[in-house]
Amino acid sequence: MNSNLELLVNLQNIDINIDKITKQISDIPQEVSTLKENFEQETKHTEELKGELDTIQIDRKNKEIELETKESAIKKHQTELYAVKTNKEYTSLQNEINTLKKDASKIEDNILEIMELTEQLNHRFKEARNNLKKDEQNMKDEIKELEDTQEALSADLSGRQKQRDELTVKILPGALSRYEKIRKKKKGTAIVKIKDNNCSGCNMKITLDLINEVRKNKELICCENCSRILYWEEKE
Ligand SMILES: [Zn+2]
Repeated sequence: MNSNLELLVNLQNIDINIDKITKQISDIPQEVSTLKENFEQETKHTEELKGELDTIQIDRKNKEIELETKESAIKKHQTELYAVKTNKEYTSLQNEINTLKKDASKIEDNILEIMELTEQLNHRFKEARNNLKKDEQNMKDEIKELEDTQEALSADLSGRQKQRDELTVKILPGALSRYEKIRKKKKGTAIVKIKDNNCSGCNMKITLDLINEVRKNKELICCENCSRILYWEEKE
């Protein structure tokens, strides 16, 4: 292979890796914020459970006060029963007592429901609070791991960039700038193999004349369809 072409193939391999590592590094901040956001969501959910618990406790207190009011009204009316003069008065008072008793019984049912709900919510809240502690540690560990990865990738990247610099000085400036231009335009691949007489960049057939030119290895030959630089690998 033409030494320039060979160097360009090597350069492309380095560049593909540099692109890959750069992408990995640039993805890390997003991964870190996703971890933080998920944890924030979880914290919010736990706080919401606590809020719900507080609310139903207040609700329960109010219901208990309401119940006491009904009960003392019942007692009061029951005493009044002894003092009434007419049947009509007696019946009306008795009706009122019955209504109050029905109300009180409804409130008692309500309080029981709230107590059951409190138990369930308490259970869910405690579970959420315990998970929160564990997940906070997990999140911190994962972030630390990502930061370590980022550091390792950055070191790897600067090593490859150095390799790239050392390689590019060996390549003819014209060939290098042609490579750079095509790579930029084609978003990654500037040099492609001829495979089964096709350009492996765009899959179009390459004429035999052009293949012969490429095989001569005298100059950089481009695919007539996609303009990528072509190279030929002799079969062993
Ligand atoms: Zn092509």
